[in-house]
Amino acid sequence: TVVPNITLNNDTAIPQLGFGTYQVTPETTKAATLAALEAGYRHIDTAEMYGNEKEVGEAIAESALNRSEIYVTSKLNNGFHDRADALAAFDRTLDALGFDYLDLFLIHWPLPAVGDFVETWKAMEEMQRSGRVRTIGVSNFQQEHLQRLFDETDTVPAVNQIEVHPYLTQDTLRAFNTEHGIATEAWSPLAQGAVLSDPVITGIADRLGKSAAQVTLRWHLQRGDIVFPKSVTRSRVDENFALFDFVLTEADIAAITALNRDERTGPNPDEFN
Ligand code: NAD
Repeated sequence: TVVPNITLNNDTAIPQLGFGTYQVTPETTKAATLAALEAGYRHIDTAEMYGNEKEVGEAIAESALNRSEIYVTSKLNNGFHDRADALAAFDRTLDALGFDYLDLFLIHWPLPAVGDFVETWKAMEEMQRSGRVRTIGVSNFQQEHLQRLFDETDTVPAVNQIEVHPYLTQDTLRAFNTEHGIATEAWSPLAQGAVLSDPVITGIADRLGKSAAQVTLRWHLQRGDIVFPKSVTRSRVDENFALFDFVLTEADIAAITALNRDERTGPNPDEFN
């Protein structure tokens, strides 16, 4: 299986399909990550908040793959919105992973009421200049947060990782990202399972002989977003990677997009502090 790459605004490439590790416990992370690598995934999404960076790093070290063959993202946790705190947190992330560089580092949440995400972003620019992180981006940023970075800093984030799924299609923010050269990463692409019994999705799945998860993930890919579904069940890990032998029609995509009801599974960035 060849996963397409997306070229980011700094001319680096990211695999469009990866493996998510939120709510994967530290005890199960090493085995789950090794299973994902064996299934063919070459992109792992973790975060300091998930408490499993060390185990992700151990799995990569134990795998037969070279570090350079795997794209790894981690995220700056919420307590560290300050230059010195952010730089120290990045050191701890690299240390936990056991890496000498990270592919992509994100500000996990903007938290405008807690600290100054603009100052934090300038620290992220410093990290990138040091060469120890190739690409920097943000997560859960709304338009007004991105606009402040455009106005007050020198670097446009390469990605904005936001909640996107058929019940929260985010077409306005996705279009804004695109207009500014920012790739959209869709977190909770399956709405943590909530969309999988939707009759529109199961109807398309039945017609194509695919699962509801595969149809939903294919919808994301054909819209151009980057996804990293999470599962610790090997059969589902394999299923979620088998997305490249079928296509949805424009009508299928439109029918799934029409399911939008602006329904979040996670916090609203405007209210989360
Ligand atoms: P998801 O939408 O990937 O759903 C995962 C859940 O869906 C699983 O626990 C399982 O219950 C079910 N599932 C997965 N594959 C299935 C299949 N083939 N058939 C049936 N059920 C299946 O949810 P997620 O883990 O929240 O999101 C994916 C990743 O996005 C996370 O692991 C994490 O890396 C990232 N994320 C980021 C943020 C952020 O704030 N930046 C927030 C949440 C998640």
